[in-house]
Amino acid sequence: MQLDDLIVYFRGEFVPYGSAKLGLLTHALQYGTGCFEGIRAFWNADAEQLYVFEPLAHYRRLRRSAGVLLMSPVPSPQRLSEVTAELCRRNGFRSDVYIRPFIFKSDETFGIRLDGIGDDLAIVAFSNDRYFDNDDGQRLCVSSWRRIDDNAVPARAKVTGSYVNVALAKSEARLNGFDDAIVLGEDGHISEASAANAFLVRDGVVTTPGVSQNLLEGITRALIARLISQELGLTLDERQVDRSELYGADEIVLCGTGVGVAWVKSIDHRPVGDGRLGPVASRLRTLYDDITRGRLTIPGVEARAVYPSAAQLAQRVAQLPHADANFARGRYAEAEHEAARP
Ligand code: PMP
Repeated sequence: MQLDDLIVYFRGEFVPYGSAKLGLLTHALQYGTGCFEGIRAFWNADAEQLYVFEPLAHYRRLRRSAGVLLMSPVPSPQRLSEVTAELCRRNGFRSDVYIRPFIFKSDETFGIRLDGIGDDLAIVAFSNDRYFDNDDGQRLCVSSWRRIDDNAVPARAKVTGSYVNVALAKSEARLNGFDDAIVLGEDGHISEASAANAFLVRDGVVTTPGVSQNLLEGITRALIARLISQELGLTLDERQVDRSELYGADEIVLCGTGVGVAWVKSIDHRPVGDGRLGPVASRLRTLYDDITRGRLTIPGVEARAVYPSAAQLAQRVAQLPHADANFARGRYAEAEHEAARP
């Protein structure tokens, strides 16, 4: 990743990545007292357009996380969505993009507490065409680590410090030769994968752990739940799920901003179904791709276009005074000529 050329949003301004500096005693660095989001924007080459997926939903969740951490008022989700689109434009991205907004306790002070510590907001976005390769099936294990309980560090708040729990599960899985892990809660029921929500399919019924199972209320999870009932016409059962249900599933589907919609090949060395991509995962993957790249619109699900469309550009040029419009047309023609050169 080439960081030097990046423009980031830091303390209310767009600045080069290298000029956004923090001190060693920054509270969040010492104690994990920050919260964050992972958002993705998807490039549609045919439409020459970049779509930020569900920015409002992500910024609403960021606000809720910040509330848990007693942070100062967060700008509105609408405002932060606009800043995000502007950040993408300033970086001129023409590829898939990963966007990382975060709010962190930024005072350089030693007291371990949440009250009375100042915070800052930053957004970093970078081009990332293949964030996670999910074409092949995932080989999962059940982690020996347990998901942190809601009364310890709430999983529904996306708190930076709590991601040590995720990292422990992920590394254990990787070092034991798996791709990822299903993590159980202290009560022994399934919570989620290391950083993705899980859906199980058996005999045409889809099951997923309920929101009280110490999981992150995923934005992709909400979309997948809708698609399962509305587009696939299947029953969705949201309830406590036992570990052994994993072994009898016809399909297991993982979903999240990072993984997209991934399918599971095996769990604890047992093949899931026939160990191949199943019809539910396959259909969900296609729908997700179409929705995130702006090819399919679902009411209430936002894929926010970053760049003005050709029609909007033409309209803007038409509104310019005559001489400026001629100049602008010339500039576009020049740019197109430039782009067409081998
Ligand atoms: N669970 C955890 C622990 C995660 O970190 C993520 C990724 N944000 C998810 C689930 C999926 O959530 P979303 O669909 O909102 O990305």
